[in-house]
Amino acid sequence: MPLECIVCHSDDICSKDVKEEVKVGLDIVYVPIHVPVCGTCGERYYDRQTMQYLEEVTQKLKAGETPLREVGKVLTVDI
Ligand SMILES: [Zn+2]
Repeated sequence: MPLECIVCHSDDICSKDVKEEVKVGLDIVYVPIHVPVCGTCGERYYDRQTMQYLEEVTQKLKAGETPLREVGKVLTVDI
């Protein structure tokens, strides 16, 4: 975990449960992860393991191997 945020130089960094947004086609899937987050600017710090995990999850999602539950809708405005 970095001692100081590289974006805003705050030392208010602690591990948090957050949801990473992964895009699969036109859909967005929330993937729960545990990463250090800057409490001041919200910058997330991904370690190698987390990056790898997200890559694996994304591949499984694209292959349709992961059961999903709909929690909302992504909408767009037609002009
Ligand atoms: Zn920061």
